Amino acid sequence: MLLVHWLPLMVSASPGKQQALVALGGNIGDVLAHFRHARDALRAHDRIDVVRFSPVYRSTALGPPQDDYLNAVIMLQTYLPALELLDVLQAIEQQCQRRRLQHWGPRTLDLDIIDYAGCQYQDERLILPHPQAHRRRFVLQPLRDIAPSWQHPVFACSPDVLLQALLDQMLICVHDCW
Ligand code: AMP
Repeated sequence: MLLVHWLPLMVSASPGKQQALVALGGNIGDVLAHFRHARDALRAHDRIDVVRFSPVYRSTALGPPQDDYLNAVIMLQTYLPALELLDVLQAIEQQCQRRRLQHWGPRTLDLDIIDYAGCQYQDERLILPHPQAHRRRFVLQPLRDIAPSWQHPVFACSPDVLLQALLDQMLICVHDCW
């Protein structure tokens, strides 16, 4: 198994607006409504611009038996530092009644920062890039739809190359426009 140790410091976020990629997931309640709420809340934030958002896919759940997930990725630009962006995302999760009851358990809305300005960072609250992103088709496929030339900050390769290494089943696109 490939073991990755991210660097324990923030690398290379120059001042100004930064590009971030945020993965959305959920499998409780009206998940599409939660996704729309998240997108609208990000658009309404005065220090965040939503640049692009992917189609919505359905994926089989990892972890304990549970309903299928919906997944998407949003590209945004923001003046917020990464930890403040995480605060905003966690507040949006709370607005959708997110409860952390079980590791990998069902959730109304999960918002993960996949990449923030190509930084590598690790502390007790935030790991960048997201340490599982390169293993997850439900992240890489929607990410590829909106950012095909994105490069993974650690592996320095595109979502297509990372997807070719995955053996899990294909995703079903359920909403092109939402
Ligand atoms: P999860 O249950 O998957 O939503 O994990 C949430 C926890 O992961 C939170 O406590 C976050 O502080 C932490 N975390 C670490 N890295 C990230 C990241 N890149 N994006 C979002 N949450 C993260």
